[in-house]
Amino acid sequence: MERVGFIGLGIMGKPMALHLLPAGYPLTVFNRSQGAQNELIAAGATSAASPKDVAAVSDVVITMLPDSPDVEQVVLGKGGVLEGLHSGGLVIDMSTVLPSLARAIHDRAQQKGCTALDAPVSGGQVGAQNATLSIMVGGSVPAFERAKPILEKMGKNIVHVGEAGAGQVTKAANQIVVAVTIAAVSEAFVLAAKAHVNPSKVRDALLGGFAHSRILDLHGSRMLQRRFQPGFKTTLHRKDMAIVLNTARELGLALPVSAAVAELMNALIANGGGELDHSALVTVFEKLGNLELTPPSS
Ligand code: NAD
Repeated sequence: MERVGFIGLGIMGKPMALHLLPAGYPLTVFNRSQGAQNELIAAGATSAASPKDVAAVSDVVITMLPDSPDVEQVVLGKGGVLEGLHSGGLVIDMSTVLPSLARAIHDRAQQKGCTALDAPVSGGQVGAQNATLSIMVGGSVPAFERAKPILEKMGKNIVHVGEAGAGQVTKAANQIVVAVTIAAVSEAFVLAAKAHVNPSKVRDALLGGFAHSRILDLHGSRMLQRRFQPGFKTTLHRKDMAIVLNTARELGLALPVSAAVAELMNALIANGGGELDHSALVTVFEKLGNLELTPPSS
C-alpha cells in the first residue's frame, strides 16, 4: 500500500486523516500545534518533525492547511514537502487555495519528477467526519486514478474536473454559491422578523419549496439557534472570497454579488466574528435592521 503523509490536522484534516488508518495506509503526520498530532499517534500514525521529513517517508503527501501562503511554505518552501519527496511521489493539496498556486505546485512537482493534484473539498466538518466529502480534483488523469482509492476513504462524490488548478476553480465557484446563499437566507430571516413573522416558521415553509437548500436547512438552523461555533470559520470563508475575487480580477471578470458578500464578511470580522461559523453573517444583517432573531423556543 502507498505510504501516506498528512500535514494539517485541523477541523477538517484530523478526521480526514483518521479515516486512512482503518483502511490500512501507513500514515505519517505533521501539524503546527501538537494536540491533534497526539490523537493521530494514539490511533496508529507516526509523526515526523517537518513537512520535508513527512515527505521523505511517504509516497503520497496530503496537505490540509488554512491558506495559500501556508501551502506555499509547506509544499514549496525550505524544509518543505518537495525537498523530501522521492521521484515518482504525489502531492495532493486538499486545502482551498489560489488556482495559480495549484498550477505552480504542479509545475514544481513535475520538475522534480513528481506529480501533484489540487483536490479541495466541500461538505464541511460533518462531511470530513462521515467521509462524505465532495472532492473536486485538478491534475492529470493518471495522477487522479492513483489518488482515487485514497480519496475514496475521505469522500463520496469525487470528480476529476480538469487540468491543474481546475479543482480550485471549482471550489471557488462552490464558495460563491455558499456565501451568497448564506446572505440570502440571512436577508430572508431578517425580513420576516422585521415584519413580525416567525423566521423559524418561514424556514419550515421554505424548506418544502423551490427555495430549499442545505444552507437554508443547516445554516438556517444555526442562525435561529445561535449556534455559531465553527464549523467553517468566517475568516476562512473571507479568505475564499479573496481567492474568488483575485481569480476574477486575473480573468478581467466582474463578480459584483461576490464582492458585496465579501464586504459583509469583512463587517462581521471587524465586529469580532472572524472565529465564528460563517452562518454568523446573519448578525451583520441583524445590525443593519436593528433587530435580533430570537431562538425558535422563545
Ligand atoms: P483549521 O484552521 O481548523 O486547520 C488548519 C490546521 O493546519 C491547524 O491544525 C494548524 O495547526 C495547521 N497548520 C497551519 N499552518 C501549518 C503549517 N505551516 N504546518 C503544519 N500545520 C499547519 O482549518 P480547517 O477548517 O481544517 O480548514 C483547512 C482547509 O480546508 C482550509 O483551506 C479551508 O478553507 C478548507 N475547508 C474547510 C472547511 C470547513 O468546514 N472547515 C470545509 C471545506 C474546506
